[in-house]
Amino acid sequence: MPANTKIAYFSMEIALADALPTYSGGLGVLAGDTIRSAADGGVPMVAVSLVHRKGYFRQRLDGVGNQSEEPWAWEPERALAEAPQRVTVNMSGRDVVLRAWRHDVQGQGGHVVPVLLLDADLPDNADEDRHLTDHLYGGDDRYRLRQEVVLGIGGVRMLRALGYAGLRRFHMNEGHAALLVLELGHEEMLRRGETSVSREVAQAVKPLCVFTTHTPVPAGHDQFPLRLMREALSCYGHAYDERAIEFCLDGKLNMTYLALDNSHYVNGVAKRHGEVSRQMFAQYKVDSITNGVHAGFWTVPPIQALFDAHITAWRADNASLRYALGIPRQALWSAHQQAKEELVRYVADRTGVALFANVFTLGFARRATPYKRPDLLFHDLSRLLALHRAAGPIQILYAGKAHPRDEGGKELIRRVFGHIAALRGQLQVVWLEDYDMALARRMVAGVDLWLNTPQPPLEASGTSGMKAAMNGVPQLSLLDGWWVEGCIDGVTGWPINGHVGKPAMADDRASDAESLYNQLENVILPLYYRDRDRWIDVMKHAIALNGSFFNTERMVDQYVRKAYFV
Ligand SMILES: *Cc1c(COP(=O)(O)O)cnc(C)c1O
Repeated sequence: MPANTKIAYFSMEIALADALPTYSGGLGVLAGDTIRSAADGGVPMVAVSLVHRKGYFRQRLDGVGNQSEEPWAWEPERALAEAPQRVTVNMSGRDVVLRAWRHDVQGQGGHVVPVLLLDADLPDNADEDRHLTDHLYGGDDRYRLRQEVVLGIGGVRMLRALGYAGLRRFHMNEGHAALLVLELGHEEMLRRGETSVSREVAQAVKPLCVFTTHTPVPAGHDQFPLRLMREALSCYGHAYDERAIEFCLDGKLNMTYLALDNSHYVNGVAKRHGEVSRQMFAQYKVDSITNGVHAGFWTVPPIQALFDAHITAWRADNASLRYALGIPRQALWSAHQQAKEELVRYVADRTGVALFANVFTLGFARRATPYKRPDLLFHDLSRLLALHRAAGPIQILYAGKAHPRDEGGKELIRRVFGHIAALRGQLQVVWLEDYDMALARRMVAGVDLWLNTPQPPLEASGTSGMKAAMNGVPQLSLLDGWWVEGCIDGVTGWPINGHVGKPAMADDRASDAESLYNQLENVILPLYYRDRDRWIDVMKHAIALNGSFFNTERMVDQYVRKAYFV
């Protein structure tokens, strides 16, 4: 019932299902897992996003790694019901009419969290405006600010029109939704019969707002020139004339500061990221709630069957994954090998390359962008080949999309393709096109080791390694993001160039690569090939210590207790 719903969750992207292209990466996957776990836990939540009719893109790569992008269009009218209300926002002096498509996420106990996908593609709208909800993170600054008007302002209006009158928290998943603060302030102003949004009015809104920041560098924060802001906010007349400047930093509207200033609870997405955020935003109180992944959504069928057989009620009580310690080694190994054989088959179907299910397999997949350093593994090809011969054999799988305008990311894909060609005939490396959730699930479960090589402190959290852990696949990573908390050296996985409890800082490629090679050659490969029982024990601990904690069931509980119902 709308009137009983207490929490509104806003996110520019939400990964709702494998077949819906409404997400680009980790932020959207986190939003989807949050909603899935909120539905499981019976949290009275409604979620708001945009429909993204042309989706995020499908990736094609040519023989040398040049990425081209094809739209991944979908038609909400085929799959979803239209909500019974329309709302209007005024931008650039024109009215834009919005409708919403409703996607229900049903939890294990039957509780539903409705997701409203806002859509501007209506004949009443000017042609330019009809395309506002087509492309996730598409277009220029003006397009993106107008999308944020749709999300933040249009979203609140749609909720009100649909009867969501009892909402007590508005959760902004990253700054894209921060304009909702202005709409709530405007509502409060009207309630008080005033004509401008005073500081007192704004203070009244603060208890309603929750902000989760995901970006550990100032340059990553959304900001827009004042001129664009005035155009986009034409719907408020002069109500914000006096205060608009307060939301600005260096003459720009800064979404992060807008959200920080107006939220009663602010958090980063891992303990380390909380520390970094407190340094960046010293004048604000910033807590941390470490991300998680949805256990049922991210485990593959052979692992699910294993848990069903050995761990009672793991889906509804993720903490019980701790009892993975009691799973017989042979049973875990055989479930893992099934996942691996499926991945090997999939690679053969997609690429014609024959991998081997008995060869140690390393996996790396994430957005292709410079700070993730996908080429670190290839820093010294002769060293990599030497360890492959001495301690291996190994085979390697890669995947990842670069944002269409991320030239640095695209260049990295080409560079990795160059290394793949240089290694051909000596070491098998395969790049799988078109990384998405379905491919991520296969990869995290089917490889033997998950690799992560971010440049600290730029990985706010990272979640693909959590998905791997959930499937019993340990991680090798620099100590950044969640791995500062999740790594117990030799127990749940291994660090690169650092000591547990002491996060890495400098960007030192050569020494990071050296440490990566040493860990593979001296620790990881010998364990995998020569002490299989101890290797399986690491797999068990990945599930028991990390799967049981780095899940969205625990994470949503923390949001409930710290941010939603306090
Ligand atoms: C989980 C996931 C991500 C995020 O992975 P990171 O490790 O946080 O980079 C990105 N894209 C897809 C498709 C995913 O499934």
